[in-house]
Amino acid sequence: MPNKLKRTGTRNKRISARDKFLKGIHQKNRQVLEKSLFELTAAYNIGREASYAADLRNCLKILVDGIADLMSVEIVSVMLMDRYEEGLVLEFSKGLGNEITKEKVRLGHGIAGWIAQTGEALLIKDIKKDVRFSRRGGKYYTDSLLSVPLKINKKVIGVINVNNKVTRDIFEEEDMDVLRKVAGLAAAAIESARLQEEAVARDETRLEFISNISHELRTPLSCINEGVSLVLDGVTGKINSKQKEFLASVKNNIERLKRLVSELLELAKVESRITRMRRSLFDVVQLIEGVVASMGPLVKDKKISLKKTLPDKNIQIWADPDKLSQVLTNLIDNAMKYNKPKGIVEVSMDESAKTVNINIRDTGIGIPEEDIKKIFDRFYRVEASAKSKTRGAGIGLSIINEIIKKHRGNISVDSEVGKGSRFTVTLPKDLRAENR
Ligand code: ADP
Repeated sequence: MPNKLKRTGTRNKRISARDKFLKGIHQKNRQVLEKSLFELTAAYNIGREASYAADLRNCLKILVDGIADLMSVEIVSVMLMDRYEEGLVLEFSKGLGNEITKEKVRLGHGIAGWIAQTGEALLIKDIKKDVRFSRRGGKYYTDSLLSVPLKINKKVIGVINVNNKVTRDIFEEEDMDVLRKVAGLAAAAIESARLQEEAVARDETRLEFISNISHELRTPLSCINEGVSLVLDGVTGKINSKQKEFLASVKNNIERLKRLVSELLELAKVESRITRMRRSLFDVVQLIEGVVASMGPLVKDKKISLKKTLPDKNIQIWADPDKLSQVLTNLIDNAMKYNKPKGIVEVSMDESAKTVNINIRDTGIGIPEEDIKKIFDRFYRVEASAKSKTRGAGIGLSIINEIIKKHRGNISVDSEVGKGSRFTVTLPKDLRAENR
C-alpha cells in the first residue's frame, strides 16, 4: 500500500510538471493572443480616426502620430505614389529634420522605391549593409529600419517607414506585424481622403465654371430686359397692341431664362460637396408660419386657398433656416402651380421624438405613379405639366432633394392623378448628433 501511495505520489508529481509545462504554453499563447488583440484594436482605432479626418494632411498626421505612439518609435514617414505612378513623394513625417526634401523617389530606387516596385515589406537589421539605402536626414540611433507598403487591392499607393525605437533596440518580426496591421487600414483611410480631396477640387472647378457662365449670361439678359421694358412702357415712343403683345412674350421668356440660369447655379451649389448647410436652432412652427404668410400675394393671384394646420407650440430643430424656407416655398409654389382653379393647398406638421414631418397637400392634377420617382431627377417634368403652360424647368425638386439630403432628412410623395398630391418632408430635430 505505501508503495502504491508512493507511485501515485510520483505520478502526481509527473502530472503536475506536465500541467505546469502546458500551463506555461497556455499562458504564453494567451499573452501572444492578448498582445495581438491589443495591436489589432489599436491599429483599428488609428485607421478609424484617420478615416474621419477632414483632409489628407490631417489623415496622415493622425496615422503618423498613432504609429509612433503604438510602436514607440521616434521617426515615422509616409511616402505616397504620385499621380503618374512614376515615384514616391514624402508626404508627411515625424522626427525627420527640416532638411528633408520632397524630391521624388523613383520606382526601383532606394528602399521605398524597391518596396513600391515589389509590393513587399522590408525589415533591415543593419542598414549599412544594404546597398539600396541612402540617408535622407534625421538622426538615427540604430542601423535598423522597417518599411511596409500601403496597398489598395494589391496596388501599392505608398510606403510607411519607421526608425528609432525609443528603447534603441533593433526592429524584429513582431514590429513588422504591428506595422502591417496598421498599414492595411491606413491605406484605405489615405485613399478615401485623397479621393475626397480630388472630388472637392473637381466640385470647386465645376462651381466656378457655372458661376462664371451664369454671371456672363445674366448681365446681357438684364440689359435686354431693361431695353424691352423701356420700349413696353412707351419711353421710346408709342407702340401698337401687336408690338406690345410680342414684346410682353419676349419679356416673359427673358424672365424664364433668368430663372433657369439662377436655378442651375443654385443646383450646382447645393450639389457641391463644398456647400455646407448653415445650421442653427430655431422654431420650425414659426418658420412655416412665415413662409405661408409670404405666399399670400401669390394665393390671391391664383384664387387658391392656402391653409395651415400647425401645432400650437414651439418646436425647436437644428437646420439651415434659409434653406428650409426655400424648400417649403418651392413645394407650396408647386402645389399652387399644379393645382386646379379654386383648389386648396394645406400645410401641416407633426412630430415624433426625433423628427418633424412637414406636409404640403394640394387638390391639384396629381402625379402618375410611374413618374413619382423621376420628378426628383434634374430637368424631369411630368408630360402633362410639360405640355401645359405652367412655367418650370424641372430643377426645383432636385434642389429640394439635395437640401433635404444634406440635412439627413427625407422627402416622400403620395399622389393620385386628378385628385392631388401630398409631399412630406421629414427632418431630424437634432442634427448635431450626426455631425461626423
Ligand atoms: P418645375 O419647375 O417643372 O415645377 P420641379 O422640379 O419643381 O420643376 O417639379 C418637377 C415636376 O414634378 C414638375 O414639372 C411637375 O410635373 C411635377 N410636380 C411637382 N410638384 C407637383 C405637384 N404638387 N402636383 C403635380 N405635379 C407636380
